Amino acid sequence: MNPKIIIIAEQSHGEISSVTYELIAGAKVLRQFTNSDIKIIMTGGEVSVAARQLSEQSGIDILVINPDIRTIPEEMIPEKIIPEKIIPDEIVFKNIPASLFKDLNPAYILMAHNAKGLDAAPGLAAKINAACITGVEKITGADGDICFTRSLFNDKISAQIISCAKVSVLTILPGVFKPDTRFNGNVGKISMIDLPLSTGDYHLIGYKNDAADTSALDDADVIVSAGNGIREKENLDLIFQMAGLFPKSAITGSRPICDKKWLKYSQQVGITGATVKPKLYLACGISGSSQHISGMRDSKFIVSINTDPHAAIFNISDICIIEDIATFIPQFITMYQDSQST
Ligand SMILES: Cc1cc2nc3c(=O)[nH]c(=O)nc-3n(C[C@H](O)[C@H](O)[C@H](O)COP(=O)(O)OP(=O)(O)OC[C@H]3O[C@@H](n4cnc5c(N)ncnc54)[C@H](O)[C@@H]3O)c2cc1C
Repeated sequence: MNPKIIIIAEQSHGEISSVTYELIAGAKVLRQFTNSDIKIIMTGGEVSVAARQLSEQSGIDILVINPDIRTIPEEMIPEKIIPEKIIPDEIVFKNIPASLFKDLNPAYILMAHNAKGLDAAPGLAAKINAACITGVEKITGADGDICFTRSLFNDKISAQIISCAKVSVLTILPGVFKPDTRFNGNVGKISMIDLPLSTGDYHLIGYKNDAADTSALDDADVIVSAGNGIREKENLDLIFQMAGLFPKSAITGSRPICDKKWLKYSQQVGITGATVKPKLYLACGISGSSQHISGMRDSKFIVSINTDPHAAIFNISDICIIEDIATFIPQFITMYQDSQST
């Protein structure tokens, strides 16, 4: 039996997460170099509708893992937390027995490079004695080998890695493989197994939904985004002034800015925030980590202002302005206003 490419699909409350389609796209790129079959594993219980939908859309065989359902006593659930009726993916991911993977004969196991995937991938690799390559952005052939590209040092260096192991666990950076949503007419087979689950050392008792409305980001033509380079909270005012020049604009930030609570989490752009595609994205004092770029790389035109000429954000920018934002933005606003009044 040819070793397989296994995709660990993500779902939430029975709905397939969009990153799953990106994993399928990544697996298809990998298949060009290996000729291996692809198989999807879905976890989390109560996923039969989602599994059917995914098998029809992808034409790929799916193995559904049904964990034993554990209910949490009501009194343990804090107010405003939505209790989980099913065991979430990440707990199942971590508890899939090594023997199951052995039976599936994988060469590559693909997970998303997000909180769930990063939580589970290293442990899985250790358990099955596999290599673990995280944050994969590109898969290419290299003289008979397969080369995985990932970024290092805040995206200033691009590393090319070849796995020497029989099995490799890969986490794939969201946003790099474009999902192919065309239905090719094939329907994958679905099989199911029950997994007697020991949830380990902790229980996840539920999720707290962020009810924040991000529709303003979808509607904005121009997004002005603040990064750590703004240094002081007071300098956010420059960002607001800049955004004020454009009629359909919105303000966002990188994660550190939202962690500092200078902006709301609903305004965070990136892998763990919003994905935006405005006509113009103005990155002010943002270094361009892969986690941030994931959420804005499809913007139509990108202008970046950064004091560091080697900032990674410049690699994907249409215009690169090497300047202190505290110097550039006030001058830009004055020049813009002068041009409007003449
Ligand atoms: C699992 C995980 C998920 C993550 N998810 C996200 C996410 O969704 N979104 C996200 O943004 N990050 C995310 N991060 C964090 C990410 O790795 C980076 O740490 C973060 O994006 C860096 O933010 P930044 O570019 O604003 O700050 P920094 O990396 O500190 O960069 C600041 C930049 O400002 C420049 N600068 C400094 N002073 C000035 C000045 N006066 N004028 C102009 N430029 C100046 C510097 O040269 C530098 O390039 C995640 C990390 C992990 C591990």
